Amino acid sequence: MSSRKKVAIIGSGPSTLMLAATLDETIFDVVIYERNYAPGRKFLVAGDGGFNLTHSEPTDNLISRYTPADFLHSAISYFTNLDLRTWLSQIGIETFIGSSKRVFPVEGIKPIDVLNAILEVLRKKNVSIKTSHFWKGFNADNSLLFEFKNSQIAVKADYTIFALGGASWRKTGSDGEWAGLFLAKGINVLPFQPSNCALEVVWPESLKTKIEGKWIKNISVSYSNYNSIGEIVCTGFGLEGSPIYALSQLVRQEIIEKKECCLFLDFKPFSNIIQLQEILQQNQKSITECLKNKIKLGITEIELLKGFLSKEEFIDPKSLAYKIKNFPLTVTNSGPINEAISTVGGIDLNEVDGYFEFKKLKKHFAIGEMLDWEAPTGGYLLQGCFSMGYFLGSRLNSIEQ
Ligand SMILES: Cc1cc2nc3c(=O)[nH]c(=O)nc-3n(C[C@H](O)[C@H](O)[C@H](O)COP(=O)(O)OP(=O)(O)OC[C@H]3O[C@@H](n4cnc5c(N)ncnc54)[C@H](O)[C@@H]3O)c2cc1C
Repeated sequence: MSSRKKVAIIGSGPSTLMLAATLDETIFDVVIYERNYAPGRKFLVAGDGGFNLTHSEPTDNLISRYTPADFLHSAISYFTNLDLRTWLSQIGIETFIGSSKRVFPVEGIKPIDVLNAILEVLRKKNVSIKTSHFWKGFNADNSLLFEFKNSQIAVKADYTIFALGGASWRKTGSDGEWAGLFLAKGINVLPFQPSNCALEVVWPESLKTKIEGKWIKNISVSYSNYNSIGEIVCTGFGLEGSPIYALSQLVRQEIIEKKECCLFLDFKPFSNIIQLQEILQQNQKSITECLKNKIKLGITEIELLKGFLSKEEFIDPKSLAYKIKNFPLTVTNSGPINEAISTVGGIDLNEVDGYFEFKKLKKHFAIGEMLDWEAPTGGYLLQGCFSMGYFLGSRLNSIEQ
């Protein structure tokens, strides 16, 4: 056992957990270093809302959701969404596919149960987890420098894997502050930007109070050729919800360049303009009553129409029907990075090879959200992290076997 290779993994998110669970304990002596008092804080936060462990779509479709295209092709082909579900099932975490095709743990299994089941795998493999160990950089001999209870510790390992996460939800420990440590080593790090975030809309003040906190179901949101159907929520800042998060990646560049961009909302994605126009034309009562009772629009959608349309547009069946299907909304900014579900930016992908090894720092690797890739919410982020961990673990096993 004493001849086992030493592996130091920094960070204790899903990428690390899967990597450590995959590494062969007869070959590797694995130690995880985490700055927090406990492992997997962001993983638990991810579980607070809908806990999408992966997405169930066919592998080729799944892979196409990642940007840049093909970056995760090898890792996800090697450890697919089906592989992940099978693996979880083997450790007692059964999953199901929801109506959105996202994959969740079955009822009764909480995020902490999923984390504990994975930690139990690590415990059986004698993986050591050193919490309250804050990685501060490299010593002159390239050993790792940690701060632990006001003392400095140097760690030398045969293999070092960084899995430090992105730069949102700083309170989880994933704050991106590590960027400067790599830049000092001559490794390029791209600025972090919010991904899967809210979008800002400057609401007319009189409208804001009426719509703040209100959800709109079965709405289609589109930008350019892309559209997404789901639920959105109007907030004081603007809009949130899965369709908005999905679009937040696409509109980012236009917002940076033009300081705004235009989205189109379709309040009745399953009706066509002619049908709506006919209902409005036949209406004998008030337009609001007709929108509510015949067209079945919610109060929030009606408030939005009233808040943005001119009186002439609102009373004209043709223009009102058109605007129900093509409601333009100007977005003026992305939401704050700290509140984003994920970030893009981080380690430049040109700095790592196909196995995530730093080209300038052999036997040092980076996996997970700290690399410059992105994907929509809905399980893709966790799948990407788990696949990278499994792929690299298998690679290291095969190198040292
Ligand atoms: C609100 C929310 C909901 C989400 N929901 C989902 C979802 O449903 N489905 C999905 O697929 N994804 C979801 N995500 C995204 C997902 O949680 C992340 O993409 C994923 O956790 C990233 O994993 P990681 O292994 O790269 O790093 P992280 O999980 O971010 O872990 C990195 C770890 O590194 C540690 N660390 C950082 N710097 C240092 C240092 N200097 N020294 C020591 N340790 C350090 C941090 O403390 C942290 O524990 C959600 C995220 C948020 C914020």
